[in-house]
Parts: sequence; C-alpha cells; structure tokens
Amino acid sequence: MFWDQASETLSRPLLERAQLAQLQETVRRVALSVPFYQQKFASLGLKPEDIQSLADVRRLPFTANDDLRAHYPTGLLAVPLEEPVRLHTSSGTTGKPKALLFTRKDIDQAAELVARSLVMTGVTRQDVFQNMMSYGLFTGGLMMHYGAEKVGCLVIPSGPGTSERQLMLMQDFRTTVAHILPSYALYFAGFLEQRGIDPRRDLAWRKAFVGAEPYTEETRQKIQQALGIQVFNSYGLTEMNGPGVAFECEHQCGMHLWEDHFLLEIIDPKTGEPVPEGQQGELVLTTLKREAMPILRYRTRDITRLLPGPCPCGRSHRRLDRITGRSDDMLIVRGVNIFPQQIERVLMAHPQIGRNYVIILEGLDDLTVEVELAAAGFDGDVEHVAALQHHLAEKLKAELWVRPKVNLVPAGSLPIAEGKAKRVIDKRSL
Ligand code: ADP
Ligand code: ZN
Repeated sequence: MFWDQASETLSRPLLERAQLAQLQETVRRVALSVPFYQQKFASLGLKPEDIQSLADVRRLPFTANDDLRAHYPTGLLAVPLEEPVRLHTSSGTTGKPKALLFTRKDIDQAAELVARSLVMTGVTRQDVFQNMMSYGLFTGGLMMHYGAEKVGCLVIPSGPGTSERQLMLMQDFRTTVAHILPSYALYFAGFLEQRGIDPRRDLAWRKAFVGAEPYTEETRQKIQQALGIQVFNSYGLTEMNGPGVAFECEHQCGMHLWEDHFLLEIIDPKTGEPVPEGQQGELVLTTLKREAMPILRYRTRDITRLLPGPCPCGRSHRRLDRITGRSDDMLIVRGVNIFPQQIERVLMAHPQIGRNYVIILEGLDDLTVEVELAAAGFDGDVEHVAALQHHLAEKLKAELWVRPKVNLVPAGSLPIAEGKAKRVIDKRSL
C-alpha cells in the first residue's frame, strides 16, 4: 500500500539526482537569506556553486543544537516573518527552547510525509486514529494529526489525557490505531490489566506508532504482547518537522527515512567524518525542501546505523536501525560508558519484570536501578525478591561491566510522566 508510490519507489539514480538539485537550491537560498549561514560560508571560503555532487555536502558547515538556541527565536528564518503560519518548539527545560517556524507549504509537506508513513503500515481512511501525544508546541500532536487527517482517518486528538478518558474514547469510537509514547504504552497496558480489559477481545485497537523517545526491541515485543497490537517504530524530531522523518513499513524491519526530503549522513560524533557504510554513528540531516527554516547538516545526536539491502516492500528510501540513544544520553559510571538502553534491554527481556523503571545515580558514582515487578506471576516473597534482585544485578553487570544495585518495587508504584519519560535521575555530587 502506497500513499505516493512514485516518490516512495523512485529509482536511486533519480532520487539522488533530485536530492542534488534540492541541496543546491537549499544552499543558494540560505546563502542569500540567512546571516548565520552567510557567515559560516564566508569563514569556510565556500560558495553555493561549490556544491557539485552529493558528496560535496561534507564541505558544508554543521548546524548544532546550540546554533538553534543561539538564534532563537527567528534568527534562522529564510523567509520574511509574515510567511510562516506555525510555530513548534523543542526542549525548553534548560534555558531557551529551539523554535521552528513553518510555512503553509512546509506544514503540507510534513503532513504528506506522515500520510506516506501511515499508509505504509496499512492505515486507511477506515481507521480511527487516537493521537495520545501532547498537542501544543510539541510536534507529536499537530504534525501527526494533519497527516492522519490527510489519509482520511477519523482523528481523535485525545492528547495525553487520563487513562480513563483514553479508554472511554477508545471503546466508544472503536479506535483501531494509536500514536503513543513507549513509556505510556507500557503504563496503559498495566491500566487495562487492572480494569480486567483484554484488549484483544474488548477493543478494536490493532496498530500503534510508537516513538519520540528511545526504546528497545524487547520493549516493542512487550507492548505488542500486552496490547495485542502491532507496534511500528516512528522517528522524528522537531528540527526536521517532528514525526514522519523515518518510519517502519509493514515489514517492521527498520525505518525508511524519506530521502527526497532529508539528506542523511552517519558520522563519527568525535571526528565529524562519515563512518563506513552500515556502521553505527550519529545521524546528520539536511532539509531538502524546507521553506521557512532550511537546516544544513543538523547534528541530531541520535545514534543509529543504515541497514543493508533492499526492503521487500519495494521502497527505495534507505532504512535506519532503531535509535540506540542520543550521544548525550551516555552515562559515565565509574569510568565506564553506559547507555540507558542497555539497561532497558536486560529488564524488558525478563518475564517477571513489569513496565516501568528508573535509573538513579547518586553519591560519588552509585548506580541504582529501580524497577517494577510484573503485576502477575510473582509471589512477592522476601527471599524470592532478594534472589531476583541478585539475578538481575548479575545480568546487568554482564551487560554493563558495572554492578548496579537493583530495587524491585510493586507494579504501578513508580511515577509516570505526562510527556516523555524521565528515565535517568542524576544526583551525583561530581
Ligand atoms: P526534545 O528534544 O524536546 O525531546 P523532540 O520531540 O524534537 O524534542 O525530540 C526528538 C528526539 O526524540 C529525537 O532526536 C530522538 O532523540 C528522540 N526520538 C524520536 N523518535 C524516536 C524513536 N522512534 N526512537 C528513539 N528515539 C526517538
Ligand atoms: Zn519497507
């Protein structure tokens, strides 16, 4: 099933030719209208005509997270201020957020990419789409909403409201598809279990688009089993429109990145040089069709790799592996590098472990993993709890090379965030 078959299956040579033309156009536009890029080009002695091939993208300057903050609110606009029709922001928790502005055409293009992504998983206009992400400045609400409307779904903008209300809407309107955070999907599964609701029997829910925060394959399996749905990995970031940058197709084997809109590179985050094809590195993206705020070589800090070979679905756009974390998510504990995802993988693969966890760093360098037990299947006997804690600590040590303290707590006792989960609490006095 295709939304835009011609674009989605364009042959590689034609796709690359179109990418080069769009890249040249983007570089010309920012050289004319964005002082930040004008200065960067001048200091590199670079002219738009120097971009003669796709490999020449490496001659362009990177754009960092801090560049967006430094030019808040409108410093990177490439169009007059009256052109944009929408604002979104990202991460305002520390200092100024990053502000992204979109013209009408930008919004329409973003919705097109979401529509492609949804249809690629089998969504049709018969579907009822419950968008359980925050509306407002966060892109997960409105950007996904517009795409799902374009497909013709009945869209329920439920936002992150209470689980009671989510369930009521889901039952009354026979929701078939949802957009949901992985942490909330796990929590919601526990909520249904408590109510004695068997989603396979009692709900029409069949698919979910799960993303906006990193999660492991083990977590996907857990969500699929608990809810009786198919989970499709969905990747996006505000700087590149939000959702609909890369998405899994019905084969669930990595996320097709829409390469006619975004030029991708995978680099070594330390050297900035490309990694050999197929190796892990930091994803770097350049917008190819953006009007209001074109961005060159954006350092996403997301770590992933390109998957080899064609996909059975016939799409020519290359596939990204699951994001294993952000380069700045890395924790250094007693001199060892640890990604929270390594901990999640061990926890979620264990049948007696429930659905929520938190990683606590305190003192000089003490690592504690607090994790909920599964609601069923464990007797709570003190000795059994101690044995399971010991077992998990050993498993984690084998994975991390550092032995954490493991605290098992009852199902449903850890706090759940309204937005993205906060998995790491760092209280170290370093
Ligand atoms: P914020 O910076 O406030 O979190 P965004 O909503 O723009 O704002 O978040 C985008 C980031 O979310 C991505 O850069 C990535 O780190 C993470 N993310 C989004 N989708 C996924 C996904 N499917 N898997 C892993 N991480 C994801
Ligand atoms: Zn595919």
